Amino acid sequence: MVEILDTYKQAVDAVRDDYMSRRGVMSFAEYLADFSQRPQLHLRDAARYLLDAIDYFGSEQVKTPWGQVTRFKIFNQEFGDKDARLVGQENTQNAVRDALAAQVRDGRVSRLIVVHGPNGSAKTTLMSNLFQGLESYSRRDEGSQFRFRWVFPTRKSSQGSVGFGGRVHRDEEDTYAHMADEDLDATLECEVRDHPLLLLPRAQREKIMENALAGQPCLVPDHFLQASLCHRCRQIADALMRTHQGDLRKVLAHVQVERWALSRRYRRGLVQVGPQMSADAGQRQITADRNLSALPVELQNMTLFETFGPLVDGSGGIIEFEDMLKRPLDAFKYLLGTVETGELLLGQSILRLNSVLMATTNDDMLEAFRDHHEYISFRERLTLIPVPYITQYSVEKQIYEIQLVPNIGRHVSPHAVEAAARWAVLTRLEKPNTTLYPDDIKEAIHKLTVVEKADIYDSGTAPRWMSKEVFAVLRGKLKDMRAEGSSTWAYEGRFGASPRLIRAILLHASLSDKYKCLSPFAVLDEIRSVCNKTKENPFLDRERESGNYHDPLAYVSVVHEHVLDKIEEDNRTASGLVEEAKYLELMHKYITHVSHQAKGEKVYNEMNGNHEPPDEALMKRVEITVGAKGDARDFRREFMNRIAAWAIANPRQKLQIEQIFPDYLQRLKDTYFEEHRQKVAKIAKLALIELTEPENKLTDDQKKKAQNLIERLVGEHGYCRHCLKDAFAVLFSNRFADI
Ligand SMILES: [Zn+2]
Ligand SMILES: [Zn+2]
Repeated sequence: MVEILDTYKQAVDAVRDDYMSRRGVMSFAEYLADFSQRPQLHLRDAARYLLDAIDYFGSEQVKTPWGQVTRFKIFNQEFGDKDARLVGQENTQNAVRDALAAQVRDGRVSRLIVVHGPNGSAKTTLMSNLFQGLESYSRRDEGSQFRFRWVFPTRKSSQGSVGFGGRVHRDEEDTYAHMADEDLDATLECEVRDHPLLLLPRAQREKIMENALAGQPCLVPDHFLQASLCHRCRQIADALMRTHQGDLRKVLAHVQVERWALSRRYRRGLVQVGPQMSADAGQRQITADRNLSALPVELQNMTLFETFGPLVDGSGGIIEFEDMLKRPLDAFKYLLGTVETGELLLGQSILRLNSVLMATTNDDMLEAFRDHHEYISFRERLTLIPVPYITQYSVEKQIYEIQLVPNIGRHVSPHAVEAAARWAVLTRLEKPNTTLYPDDIKEAIHKLTVVEKADIYDSGTAPRWMSKEVFAVLRGKLKDMRAEGSSTWAYEGRFGASPRLIRAILLHASLSDKYKCLSPFAVLDEIRSVCNKTKENPFLDRERESGNYHDPLAYVSVVHEHVLDKIEEDNRTASGLVEEAKYLELMHKYITHVSHQAKGEKVYNEMNGNHEPPDEALMKRVEITVGAKGDARDFRREFMNRIAAWAIANPRQKLQIEQIFPDYLQRLKDTYFEEHRQKVAKIAKLALIELTEPENKLTDDQKKKAQNLIERLVGEHGYCRHCLKDAFAVLFSNRFADI
């Protein structure tokens, strides 16, 4: 079914492209009219075009614990297959855009953009998003691109008038561009897709650009100033010039300009060159066929060549060299020579490149290549952009939720995918290098465990032992922390479990005999068995470092505990006994009473409508719970000072207690939950009985409570009765055993 839809989609695209090019046929004069209307749209080389495409789809700000980052929507693939979108990788996206902007400033192809990363990082997805983005952009008005072909009318039709049989156009222009197919004997496509403006001699070209731009800001790419027609077009133009005795207008009558759309499938402007493909471009003589015999006599006597190959096909778009370093070094050197000059020697002629040149490679090969004695000279021509593994739980989880979950033939239990994503991220984190941080946080940085680091990356949650002041400094250094090692090959996100491995783990777990659903416990079993396979997975064998870094087996229990926490949390919420807002409410009450006390005022009691003195017992209770030390008056003063400081720093904002006192709030929450834990466990036990013993002896009231809990866990938390049973069973043997 998917295949049929795919084929259908391609057919629709093909028809649309076809329609577009038909509708878009113009004579050269019509083209120039369009050019003068919107010169900026026409004066784009491939780098500018790709940059415009990225900007066309817009961007959005993504909030992260290290600040806002820009995400470019071309990578959301909203115009196509959203499931193929690039998850995360905002840094990489920005680096790609920066690299293009640099080329635009240079005005020409100047560097090979090398996207590198560990195996299975999102290099291919990134490239394919760009390809699809360009395809989609080129079908929109803003993405119009033009090419031309030479047309030669049949002898009969050309003799209809004084040398020009084409219909005379509205502005009395003589052109063959609009002649019906049957009146044309031959057409010759320019396979390198020369820009139509190149048909004009350089001096006239410059003048026309200047007039059209009329002072409007536009960075005209070198291409329009330096390039000339490809060898064959030059030959044709020269021959026609002789025929028409130097009348350029008559030469241009043979030109038909049309819009063209990029297509990866048809290798139009979007080309992938595999490592085994050696010929990047070539030239061959056109053999005589019907078309040739129809050419004007002058052309028939010439030896015409056609150029071919990926470098030619990719003209006007992107040429991607897949697994660049798997190519023989000589081929690679030749490629870099091409990048340096922006020109390609083809037989006797030179082709000026107009493509964004990109390459992908894995880090191991790139690292080895760096030791090559010629690397230094290559380095100048490369822009290296890393695509690391993801180091945020929630982002990593999305990959599998989008790409894998829909294809799993079983119910996917809550927290199963999350368990895998958590383990993956933990295997990828590196111990921070203490020496890089200011003295006042060095000790804390040294103490930071891998799980704490992961929590900071994921949600910006500070470890409980860390003071607010230290965390504030650390937060300011988060960007640097993530970039640590980026100038070396041991950057964070280079090593660890690849998404490919995680996919395999999830798939295997989904086939487990032990569980009916894709259970988090099956995932953990699977991870445990992967941990024995150090040969296939070298990251399992990395040197351990204090703080639990590089200890994949230990992470299994960490994740197991996390899954139990989550199941307990689901139970707590579903039981309806514990309201999350309650402890927050208590905190707000505390603030009210303390602030009234400070001002010597009474507090309005909503229950009885009286104004009463601040409630000393309530304030004490909160202070004991949050672990306040020393004199209560000092504590309360300091407490109010911090609120005041926050209010000054955040004018006109609603008070965010979570931001000012995350630690106090956490302690209130813990205490509150602990008080209710037993009650929740009792209902869970009833639910387990109800699920496992059909003939149970629960009273009506107990039954009702049990069923309510089951219904809410199924309806609101995504469990089914099978995985709920599994979850309860593990919860009781690990957590509620004493209840
Ligand atoms: Zn050409
Ligand atoms: Zn289930």
